[in-house]
Amino acid sequence: MSREIHCVTVLGAGTMGLGIAHVSALAGYETHLFDVQAEALERAQGRIHGNLDKGVEKGKVAAEAAAAAKANLHLNTELAAAVQSAELVIEAVPESVQLKIETFERVAAACPAEAIFASNTSGLSITEMAGASDRPERFAGMHFFNPVHIMKLVEIIRGLQTSDETLDTIRQVSERMGKETVLVNESPGFVTSRINALIGNEACRMLQEGVASPEGIDKALKLGLNHPMGPFEMADLVGLDVRLSILEYLHKTLGETYRPAQPIVQRVRAGHLGRKTGQGFYKYDEAGRRVE
Ligand code: NAD
Repeated sequence: MSREIHCVTVLGAGTMGLGIAHVSALAGYETHLFDVQAEALERAQGRIHGNLDKGVEKGKVAAEAAAAAKANLHLNTELAAAVQSAELVIEAVPESVQLKIETFERVAAACPAEAIFASNTSGLSITEMAGASDRPERFAGMHFFNPVHIMKLVEIIRGLQTSDETLDTIRQVSERMGKETVLVNESPGFVTSRINALIGNEACRMLQEGVASPEGIDKALKLGLNHPMGPFEMADLVGLDVRLSILEYLHKTLGETYRPAQPIVQRVRAGHLGRKTGQGFYKYDEAGRRVE
């Protein structure tokens, strides 16, 4: 049995939060987007409007649907206003379990008691976050992919206490957002982040050993193994800081195989976080196009 959802709040208006708000508003949900930084919200609104307009130009989104999505989207820097009528709260703040737990605590104090909580964590423990909340049975993982308005999958993560009603509701919402779903029992990194981090980290080790250049490794995986993107292109897209925090967590929970390789550690220390900072393994111009 799933629950009917009308009102969704997205926490964090970064790379993922803006994409989740986009698909939520386009699916017809009254969508509130919250961030602690007003500039992040403005940037997010610009990106969402731009992506909707591009969808209309390409004939993928009807002009009326894009206009309705823009009207469904509300920006908030006040948490209480953002969550006061939320039926589903999707969290996309930075990858720190402490920050996520504290954020959900603040949300719980201001939102309806029956609201469902979902985290877009790339691999942290849903059971731990749910256990620290006041509603462990109404708590699940909802793992979207970047760019959210294009990528087809949502991994739905079942924590130890997640109820079937919560899982059914999240599946229904994901499908209305135009996504396919896979149900995954909680395990570090779920299915996708675990495999992706392993490939990306091994590629970094090969780079360190001088096996081949980033371009060479990316080309080999794309043309030889039919991967749509190379591991360095993928790391730059995901964000090297996000990737490093996933690796650190997988190293702690799954062991030595996941020890973060130096090329990624060093780039994060240098502030070279990928596309979002204009440099990662490759360089990018203002519009996010690769220049080197
Ligand atoms: P990001 O750094 O692009 O955005 C994070 C946003 O959260 C920023 O706008 C920041 O201002 C805001 N923020 C910080 N503290 C906040 C708080 N207390 N309340 C509200 N907003 C706050 O990060 P991202 O790449 O969008 O990642 C967000 C989450 O999604 C992480 O858990 C990450 O692991 C996960 N994820 C990322 C990707 C990816 O490809 N980037 C893919 C899947 C999942």
